[in-house]
Amino acid sequence: MTHDAIVIGAGHNGLVCGAYLAQAGLKVAVVERAAQAGGCIYSQQPEALPGYTLDLGGLEHGRLWGSRVVAELELQRHGLDLISRDVYTAAPFAGGRALAIWRDLDRACASIGQFHAADADAYRRFVAASAGVLALLGAVSDGPPPPTSALLRLAALLPRGSRLDAVLRLFLQSSRAVLDEWFQGQELKALLGCYATHSQLPPWQAGGGYMPSLLTGVHGGKPGRPRGGSGAFVDSLIAALRSHGGELYTGQGVAEVVTRRGRAVGVRLADGQTLAARHAVVSSVDARRLLLDLLRPEAVPAGLRAEARRIKAGADNVGEMSMGVALSGLPDFGPELRGPALAGSLYLAPSLRAVEEAFLEIACGDVPARPALMWALPSTTDPSLAPPGGHTLWVAAFVPWQLRDGRSWDAVKEEVADRLLALLAEYAPGLSALVRGRVVLSPLDWARRTGNLAGSADHVDQSLDQMLGNRPTPRLAGYTTPIKGLYLTGAGTHPGGGINGIPGRNTARLVLRRLGLGGPRVAAQDALALLERGRGALRGWRALDGLLDA
Ligand SMILES: Cc1cc2nc3c(=O)[nH]c(=O)nc-3n(C[C@H](O)[C@H](O)[C@H](O)COP(=O)(O)OP(=O)(O)OC[C@H]3O[C@@H](n4cnc5c(N)ncnc54)[C@H](O)[C@@H]3O)c2cc1C
Repeated sequence: MTHDAIVIGAGHNGLVCGAYLAQAGLKVAVVERAAQAGGCIYSQQPEALPGYTLDLGGLEHGRLWGSRVVAELELQRHGLDLISRDVYTAAPFAGGRALAIWRDLDRACASIGQFHAADADAYRRFVAASAGVLALLGAVSDGPPPPTSALLRLAALLPRGSRLDAVLRLFLQSSRAVLDEWFQGQELKALLGCYATHSQLPPWQAGGGYMPSLLTGVHGGKPGRPRGGSGAFVDSLIAALRSHGGELYTGQGVAEVVTRRGRAVGVRLADGQTLAARHAVVSSVDARRLLLDLLRPEAVPAGLRAEARRIKAGADNVGEMSMGVALSGLPDFGPELRGPALAGSLYLAPSLRAVEEAFLEIACGDVPARPALMWALPSTTDPSLAPPGGHTLWVAAFVPWQLRDGRSWDAVKEEVADRLLALLAEYAPGLSALVRGRVVLSPLDWARRTGNLAGSADHVDQSLDQMLGNRPTPRLAGYTTPIKGLYLTGAGTHPGGGINGIPGRNTARLVLRRLGLGGPRVAAQDALALLERGRGALRGWRALDGLLDA
């Protein structure tokens, strides 16, 4: 069977990429090894729990609001319905207290001020300075990243102590250093510190300093989850792909990218079947697995194989475990965490020190005694996820990828799941009695489902040396490979992990431009995007004054 383009992997980035290529008129196949598309976005309706839709993977879809991916692929027409809410996140603390980051900045500052008065003003200044960081990141997200050396050349042109120096310093810092510089209260540092670990970097590690700034984007934007569960986003992408004639094959792993005379010409599936590609093979599988496992050694230049071997995944031994829990009613987390506050994507850690201790244990291969939790009750904003009166609970935690002494995750995951629920029950004593059933995924289960290295949702570590113009390596950062017709996309490419579809879109645009297939619509969209990038960068540049004055 011959297609114009074959996309390997039907996570959301593979589907986004495939849908754009099909929209431009190419005959596209997206090939997925798992029985169900979506990769790290995974909703399940367990037979044993009728009426419940449990989310097990990616939950927050806020970056899709107003995104070009949603507009250009007309995902709302294809069934995507995002639900927003007034609170972004909150966390319970001892004594029945709760800290809440509302979308409304004044309300967020009021909550912060109840814990530590000086932090309310500091947070307001932090939000203003972070607007610059967010605008600059937004400007460089759209398209291949500039090489790191270009940034350094630009820095050399500016006077000493410029805004660029300030932002480079932020990126070189750890999240702990940034939080210690700006804030005093343990509770706010714990909440922002938990959020920062979404990079999977331990709080003390250089390169995580920009992460707390990302959270502040919620004051100018919106949090959001798809109605019907995260899988509804995947369904809308599949509908968009198919509406343009694109095909999706599930349960068909790609075993090899077939090359001829230095050009990718198709894929061989695990069952031996071959699919030919006239113009492009796009891999949403990370570059390390693509170059070392899916290509014959003679098809890859020797230097590039060595470069691929150096790509890091799971270097800090961080894995992620998650669970979806069916509840017969709503747990009570006390008066400060009721109603709208409980609708957020929540955290649980008493202090930043506790988050650090958990990451130290993870590095040693021990399941943390008290892991920091990310959790939510998705049915509070979307009652369709549970039968009348029932609720759904989503819990995720960072844990070791490799357990000490070679123990298997299969042997310990249910016991660890019990421990996570017990931690939550400390703040909602009746929780255990409400549990009707649960589905638990260990880091090993995630690796089995997606094939990702270390089961990582980011595909390759988001450490400083693997971001921007180095993601996943300097030579592979432009979504292209030295093998003609073979392209990279997915969380392992710029700008990285998370639910946003940007890598998928960026790669598709590049392929279309290379094939001369963009047409006036794509050219107009690109021109508009360039204009917006310029405006965004300028806005961001000015707002960075806040970092200099910090
Ligand atoms: C528990 C959890 C919670 C998360 N929470 C959030 C959140 O709230 N918000 C957020 O923004 N992000 C979240 N994330 C991260 C986010 O979901 C991922 O970064 C993102 O979905 C990755 O998308 P992707 O398409 O690039 O890759 P993936 O989703 O990893 O998809 C890659 C696909 O390729 C397939 N594949 C692999 N090998 C082959 C092969 N040989 N042949 C064919 N197919 C292959 C895999 O099966 C998979 O479907 C979370 C992730 C997890 C695991």
